[in-house]
Amino acid sequence: YQGKRGTADIVIFSGAGAGHPHQWLMVQAELRHALERDELVLHYQPKVGLPGGEVRGLEALVRWQHPQHGLLPPGEFLPAAEHSGLIVPLTEWVLRRALADQSCWTATGQDWALSVNVSARNLEVPGFPQFVLNLLAEVGTPVHRLILEVTETALVSDMDAAVRAIAQLGASGIGISVDDFGAGYTGLSQLRGLPITEIKIDRVFVADVAHDPQSQAIVRSVIELAHGLGSRVTAEGVETPEVCQWLAEVGCDEAQGYLFGRPVPWPQVSPVPVVPSTE
Ligand code: C2E
Ligand code: CA
Ligand code: CA
Ligand code: CA
Repeated sequence: YQGKRGTADIVIFSGAGAGHPHQWLMVQAELRHALERDELVLHYQPKVGLPGGEVRGLEALVRWQHPQHGLLPPGEFLPAAEHSGLIVPLTEWVLRRALADQSCWTATGQDWALSVNVSARNLEVPGFPQFVLNLLAEVGTPVHRLILEVTETALVSDMDAAVRAIAQLGASGIGISVDDFGAGYTGLSQLRGLPITEIKIDRVFVADVAHDPQSQAIVRSVIELAHGLGSRVTAEGVETPEVCQWLAEVGCDEAQGYLFGRPVPWPQVSPVPVVPSTE
């Protein structure tokens, strides 16, 4: 269970520690303090339009500025947060902070939308849709400038409460994005009847798309499916100009990935189009 940082004391933050309840408890206690002491930070990754490369929105990605361990990526503490239920206040913190950041970039003249990742556990909390709507009203942000990203696990049919929350949020005009599409359990029936505005194709399919015919077939089908459902489609994990070019040619609407920008604090996001020319 050595953490990827390779130091001995980071071990407790490894998501692989599921078999060690006391380690989970330590992470949970520390994480609770982190929320109180404001140790979490948000980085933002641009989402760009194809083929132009103009920034359309930013996705908030949480990090933990840990006093001993440095900047921890979400993979090192979100599993413990999900496990303990701390993900609920954590997401509420992220929403509040990200909406405040968005009003700052709006004040500088950028009309970028904001995407926030939401756990299925938030969606099960009664009153979550109203909480989000109240936050938007407080900050004075129009509903359509917020997109909530949910994974397919939030859509499985026995989670009626989550599905009802998504329906309510979507009906209010908030964007609903299906994250990591194709990577998990995909029951297409779950998409039916839900107010999905965006489907994000998981980067495992995007990575090889310039050369691998099977990935190409999958990505083409997801684009057709998304458009058939009236949704936009975004490719994640775009790292090369070849992949970007191919996606633009097959009609993918938006893209995200290291080619356009890594997650950074919002003032460092490059506001100019970043699609490289590929002649
Ligand atoms: P995600 O929502 O699928 O976010 C995309 C992840 O892929 C991010 O990792 C991002 O840094 C990384 N990425 C972006 N472009 C590229 C690329 O071109 N190549 C490669 N190899 N990777 C790329 P990150 O920031 O470590 O986040 C990991 C996951 O943690 C996210 O996956 C999301 O599921 C979760 N997460 C992050 N922030 C939050 C949050 O505030 N709330 C919740 N509930 N989950 C979050
Ligand atoms: Ca996401
Ligand atoms: Ca994703
Ligand atoms: Ca992903």
